[in-house]
Amino acid sequence: MAEKVAKELHIPPSTFIINRIIHKALDTRKKNYPVFVYTLELEFSSSPPNHPDLSEFKPLKIEIPPPIFINNPHPYIIGMGPAGLFCALAMVENGIQPWLFDRGEPLEDRLIKVQDFWQKGILDENSNIQFGEGGAGTFSDGKLTSRRNDAFTQRIFSELIKFGAPEEIAYEALPHMGTDGIQRIVKRIREYLLAKGCKFHYRTSLTDLVLKEGKVAQVALGNQWQEPEIFILALGNAARDTWKMLYERGITLEAKPFAIGFRIEQKQSDINRWIYGNEQWAEVLGAASYRLTCKTGFTFCMCPGGKVIVASSEKNTVVTNGMSFSSREGDAGNSAIVTAVNANDYGNGIWDGMNLQISLENKAFRKGYLAPAQKAKDFLQNQNGSHNIHSTCLPGIYPFNLNNLFPIAISNRLSSTLKYCNHIFPEFYTNSILIAPETRTSSPIKILRKKNELSSLSAANLYPIGEGSGYSGGIISSAADGWRLGERFRIR
Ligand SMILES: Cc1cc2nc3c(=O)[nH]c(=O)nc-3n(C[C@H](O)[C@H](O)[C@H](O)COP(=O)(O)OP(=O)(O)OC[C@H]3O[C@@H](n4cnc5c(N)ncnc54)[C@H](O)[C@@H]3O)c2cc1C
Repeated sequence: MAEKVAKELHIPPSTFIINRIIHKALDTRKKNYPVFVYTLELEFSSSPPNHPDLSEFKPLKIEIPPPIFINNPHPYIIGMGPAGLFCALAMVENGIQPWLFDRGEPLEDRLIKVQDFWQKGILDENSNIQFGEGGAGTFSDGKLTSRRNDAFTQRIFSELIKFGAPEEIAYEALPHMGTDGIQRIVKRIREYLLAKGCKFHYRTSLTDLVLKEGKVAQVALGNQWQEPEIFILALGNAARDTWKMLYERGITLEAKPFAIGFRIEQKQSDINRWIYGNEQWAEVLGAASYRLTCKTGFTFCMCPGGKVIVASSEKNTVVTNGMSFSSREGDAGNSAIVTAVNANDYGNGIWDGMNLQISLENKAFRKGYLAPAQKAKDFLQNQNGSHNIHSTCLPGIYPFNLNNLFPIAISNRLSSTLKYCNHIFPEFYTNSILIAPETRTSSPIKILRKKNELSSLSAANLYPIGEGSGYSGGIISSAADGWRLGERFRIR
């Protein structure tokens, strides 16, 4: 690498050292000629040469929010997803030993519940693909992308590496760990936090709370009333019953736009050909992925070489998502194709967006937890289509015209988005299967918080974080949101 840099800069390799790779991305714009583009941090022994590709390194600004002093060393964290776990990790750095609570089970027991769901159609509404230790991303592709690049995000990458993630995640443009990698890390984080004196309370739901004089005075956890000094909510985007309870008790929430659509499943070899020019590049570069955006919608949460999964957390509902292993070796790739929805689509009431999600998920529940699916071509022609369709989807699919699932305006926007994608990659939908509904792209609710304090507008000792607060989306940004709050606590 040093030789190449020296040649490009027209200087001897002995005049600089490469401190680190800052960023590594694959440029596939020229078909059959994929090129890695590196951003490096170099240190020169004397003044650097003049070169258009060289610029002075500016470290990321570190925002130092004011500390929060507490008397009780055991703040309560509700939710053991990325936001809750990374909030706890930041706290133990300052000698604080939070108690964590989750309605779901330890990862090992949760794995059994998920298999029961896919194989026998038995759903535990508290321990499933969305709920339980590790949170919603535990059965995911483990994509570690984030739109934000701040000091907190970087900190999450170094923490993940500390717990065994590959070092490349710190600089790769599209890092991922697979469901296997995420599960390994969740177990190591649990062991570490336990060793630091934290307590893990499983199968313990937050069911009620009492507000008094602008503070949370009492909370019902597993039906026992308790009086925490600090109360952190890291609920995730599926905590519908809990949001309702919070609202009824006087916590300020508001509706927030999100996105709705379906999963598209395609042959991975086709995707590799579209992106690389020749599918054989995948042997060297791994399964390819795409990300497309147009006026009517966008692709989202791609799982190359993965599986489509039904990820329900409530009985009699079907909701799709995607999952892959770190090797991404499967023959098919899938991605969500979604369109943004707002009050114009669902109305102005606080629960209207959430109710749209629920109605689609209920409507899709016609054959147990199988997901409705059809060929993309048939969807575009509003035809019922053939029964002869195959998908990796767990637990399975049944044929259904998805135009009869979505409101017409949403169907039309999804059709336009499919056509746009086909314009970018001809044959994009020719052999593709659509599986629906993808409704849990992000939270339909925001638990409003004060800008700098991060505490709820309604209770000074209540801190909503992560995706369920509506202020983050995805594994990394939710973990970073948790870390940002957690590191502020100090024992008085
Ligand atoms: C199948 C799937 C695949 C995904 N793939 C990716 C991906 O590849 N990359 C990515 O960045 N993101 C992915 N996501 C999204 C990602 O998982 C979430 O953005 C992330 O987990 C949000 O973190 P969080 O900690 O805010 O919430 P969550 O991870 O949702 O955790 C919330 C926790 O709170 C608990 N809880 C909720 N209500 C209560 C209550 N009343 N009492 C007690 N506990 C409660 C839940 O049981 C849950 O464990 C995926 C999601 C799913 C479902």
